[in-house]
Amino acid sequence: MEDRFGHRINYLRVSVTDRCNERCIYCMPQELQEWLPRSEVLNYDEITRLVRIASELGVVKIRITGGEPLTRRDVLTLFRQLNELPRIKDVGVSTNGSLLAKPLESGETLAEALARFGVRTANISLDTLDPEKYRAITGRDFLQQTLDGIAAAKAAGFEKVKLNAVLMRGRNEAEIGDLIRFARREDLLLRFIELMPVSTTNVLNEQNFLSVGEAQRRIEAEFGPLMPEPEFRTNGPALYYRFHDSGQRIGFIGAMTNLHFCESCNKLRLTCDGKLRPCLGSHLEFDIKTPMRQGASDEQLRQFFLEVVDRKPQQHEFRYNYQPGRKMVAIGG
Ligand code: SAM
Ligand code: SF4
Repeated sequence: MEDRFGHRINYLRVSVTDRCNERCIYCMPQELQEWLPRSEVLNYDEITRLVRIASELGVVKIRITGGEPLTRRDVLTLFRQLNELPRIKDVGVSTNGSLLAKPLESGETLAEALARFGVRTANISLDTLDPEKYRAITGRDFLQQTLDGIAAAKAAGFEKVKLNAVLMRGRNEAEIGDLIRFARREDLLLRFIELMPVSTTNVLNEQNFLSVGEAQRRIEAEFGPLMPEPEFRTNGPALYYRFHDSGQRIGFIGAMTNLHFCESCNKLRLTCDGKLRPCLGSHLEFDIKTPMRQGASDEQLRQFFLEVVDRKPQQHEFRYNYQPGRKMVAIGG
């Protein structure tokens, strides 16, 4: 699938729930959360069918996200089903990490079970190593659980475990050095993410925003020069650098300040209530659940995907007075 700007779409990010066991200030609306009724949320067979159809159109990578995907009941059933799709070569999961160390009846940890069902990459959110700040940012006391989850992920045998930290002035700006040292010690790939306007407006003001450029300057002041590594890419828009001395690699995801951010976009999103979104930073979304539930054929759904890809914007609208609509937790980050 290719859009009119030459973006080649081979990656589908699939949100499986709008619920979460944490309450991150930049993701969850602070007002009373209203969860979607269960009947609105795609069931596992529906998700698997849409992923299969996408795979027949060239999607080879998927990432399961949410909300917190690992809070959804029987989520391993979904991973087992997805693992059986022959054209999907790469399955990843985005998680806050708090449940990865959970022991299952089988005696495995949840992380081990995910790895057994073919999950290759785990992206784990970690904005701070300070328990107080962790609670202030996520609304929960899960730092130790998350650190245990990171250890479980390392032990489970994923091909890649990545850490994602959202940069917030005044909240975790003093944590940047500690996070880098932690990632170095644990041999994990750490990426810093710029805050995007996908929550309520009051947590996303100029005072909270910390650009990746400024973070980079501060990191270099403390740790020495970073060498760009333009050839090193993962699936997404992160730009990678390597420390001259230690060789540690870190990434920056600068959706707001990197003007080339959208050029290599290869992604489409499926929300948990069955909307296809061609771009995170645009309010465009297309309801594929209704035609599917009304009996659309595979061919009709394939056509639907192609039409959505054709509407993919050239770039996101975050820089142009974008007003948050759907919150990140309900889109799928
Ligand atoms: N619950 C999982 C987690 O926390 O990783 C998966 C879903 S979460 C929405 C996916 C990613 O989006 C996380 O790394 C989170 O930090 C990031 N995120 C959420 N809201 C954001 C925002 N307003 N700006 C930038 N990143 C955000
Ligand atoms: Fe939950 Fe992840 Fe959003 Fe935090 S970022 S509230 S953990 S979905």
